[in-house]
Amino acid sequence: MKIKLWGVRGSLPTPMGVDEYRTKLTSALEDARSIYRNNPQLTPAQIYQAMSWKYKAVIGGETTCVTVEGADNTVLVMDLGSGARMLGDQLSKKSGAREINVLLTHTHWDHIQGWPYFAPAYDPDCTIHFYSCLDNLPERMDRLLHRSHNQITMAEIPARIHFHSVTAGDSFQIGNFKVETQSLIHPGGCTSYRVKEGDRSFIFATDTEFYGPELSRLIIEYFSFFQEADLMIMDAQYSLAEAEQKKGWGHTAMTIAVDCSLHWRVKHLVLTHHEPAHSDEVIHELYRKAASYLDAHGNSDQLLNVTLAREGDEYVL
Ligand SMILES: [Zn+2]
Ligand SMILES: [Zn+2]
Repeated sequence: MKIKLWGVRGSLPTPMGVDEYRTKLTSALEDARSIYRNNPQLTPAQIYQAMSWKYKAVIGGETTCVTVEGADNTVLVMDLGSGARMLGDQLSKKSGAREINVLLTHTHWDHIQGWPYFAPAYDPDCTIHFYSCLDNLPERMDRLLHRSHNQITMAEIPARIHFHSVTAGDSFQIGNFKVETQSLIHPGGCTSYRVKEGDRSFIFATDTEFYGPELSRLIIEYFSFFQEADLMIMDAQYSLAEAEQKKGWGHTAMTIAVDCSLHWRVKHLVLTHHEPAHSDEVIHELYRKAASYLDAHGNSDQLLNVTLAREGDEYVL
């Protein structure tokens, strides 16, 4: 299966501001200058290749949206944050009748705000299946597209819409994918999805709070769902200090996401739902601390790989 990240920001879309762009560009130019001094024969493309990974991409400001594409071309869309706009433009380039499966984790604003801008919704040849553990999802989507907030109502959407209600803990089949569900620790609730294709498994676990005196018990309690995933994209919005300040807000610190993944024997952890108040530099610094924590806490056999979620990144399992 192929997993692609269309939105990795938490809470609020966060375009990079001019001041941050200037600072990042200046650091990138300094990096490029030192590479060029060592080898003036390099072309600009070769210099770019040799630059630090920190300067070759941006974290990205779009809110949560992830796709999983199977060997049989089945497409799962996980959440419709603002990243769903770019995804929709991409999907609508394909012609003919299409089926899209949207698996919603919950309906906090940053996970559904891309829906009115999702191009396949305006294509009458398109069928969109919504899966969620919310029994009143149709009512919530009606409210999202209420006339007082939007030009078009849910009833006027041209695509064919089907709602599938699932109970947390259930599993179901979409194409070749077996999908398992698990409720997470988040105000108002949130669902994690574990997707299996053959012997490979991927978990999407955004918006969850693993923290506090019960942490050890929680890690054990959730072991059976999370164990030995090949790839897990997990909420890691905060530093440890922020997790303490924002107890009950429903998000996890990067180092604790690493801790959970070590206990659950996850093979590759991708840290996501980045805090909108954090610049790329701050997110890289938190990642550096998480990587040091990983090295210091029992990863000598290097079973766990940890990376940052960045808009546009792709993973193949
Ligand atoms: Zn969120
Ligand atoms: Zn949320």
